[in-house]
Amino acid sequence: MQTRLTLKYRLYANRRNRALVQQIDLAGIIWNHLTALQRRYYRRFGGYIGKWRMMKHIAKLRNGCRSEWRKVGSQAVQSIVERHDAAYRRFFEYKSGKRTRKAGAPRFRKVKQYPSFTLKQAGWKYLGDNRIRIGAHIYKFALSRPLVGEMALCARCTIKTVTVKRDKAGRLFVCFSVVQELEVNETSTNRIGGFDFGLKTFLTDDAGRTYQSPQFLRTHLAEIARLNRALARKRQGSGNRRKAKRRLALAHARVADKRRDSHFKLAQRLLDEYDVLCFEDLNIDGMKRLWGRKVSDLGFAEFVSILASGAKLRGKTVIQIDRFLPSSQVCSGCGSRQPMSLEERVFACRACGAVLDRDHNAARNIRSWGVNSGVEGVRRLHAASLV
Ligand SMILES: [Zn+2]
Repeated sequence: MQTRLTLKYRLYANRRNRALVQQIDLAGIIWNHLTALQRRYYRRFGGYIGKWRMMKHIAKLRNGCRSEWRKVGSQAVQSIVERHDAAYRRFFEYKSGKRTRKAGAPRFRKVKQYPSFTLKQAGWKYLGDNRIRIGAHIYKFALSRPLVGEMALCARCTIKTVTVKRDKAGRLFVCFSVVQELEVNETSTNRIGGFDFGLKTFLTDDAGRTYQSPQFLRTHLAEIARLNRALARKRQGSGNRRKAKRRLALAHARVADKRRDSHFKLAQRLLDEYDVLCFEDLNIDGMKRLWGRKVSDLGFAEFVSILASGAKLRGKTVIQIDRFLPSSQVCSGCGSRQPMSLEERVFACRACGAVLDRDHNAARNIRSWGVNSGVEGVRRLHAASLV
């Protein structure tokens, strides 16, 4: 099985990194140029400039009055045009009703907050170990995990793109998008699990076990509030304000890092234990409206996506059941339904008398709906587990 995955490494701080920062800035400037151009064209002619025409135009500028754009590799420029074009395409599809997910037209971005530039085959060379040449310079990164199977030598594994990323705190990363031939030699556990997300406990499984997720933002709230106040005191446009902003962004980034790290650990643990994992398809926006910040702090959606990509790598199955099934209102024993308010923590069935924790009951329902969702092989696995 071939899989595509992204490996992200933090770049070591170095004076040379300024060249990369400058290239990301230029990428942002080019993005804004494209946006301005499309808008002006639309106002005048009511039309849209296609991808190829746009590329030619930018190439002309690079060789003419915008020679500084040449600092960004031609492939990076190409990928900016492609992404800009793709964003417009999504917007058109949404407008014409071909696409249900909302998509807006590309907007102007703050150059200093523009996130990245991407190179395909040219403009970089992986030098082995933790070194990479990008443009004229060699950069080193923290080899936090091996670049799969000695990348450069491994015939079954190729680097497709290299992206230099900048996060909101100004930290630089290099991301390798690799395609590799994957052998899944996982020993199967033959176990199917149902899981319910909750606010009190992060996850409850169908056996009634609970998994907690530390609420990192809450524990760092005092620090973040202090940094916010410090920022508010600084004069507009001053160097101190810039520094205070960076400190605040760093604090936020650290919270996000910790959260992601704990999600990875929990995901690995569950993938060790189960072959099939059933979850509710979450309506995060609706949950945020109901419960506020805590939902984003818990990061359910991020967790599910980490779990799903891990499952793919390990040949496991994640099933997301319809979010409109009333998982907490149905008795997992007899199937009868009764209203449950959000505050009721215990499900006491009026039909069969079963008494269960609310989340435990929901997890059992989610498991049995997952089993019956028609995903190949799951039913058979379930039947086998009953014997
Ligand atoms: Zn019942």
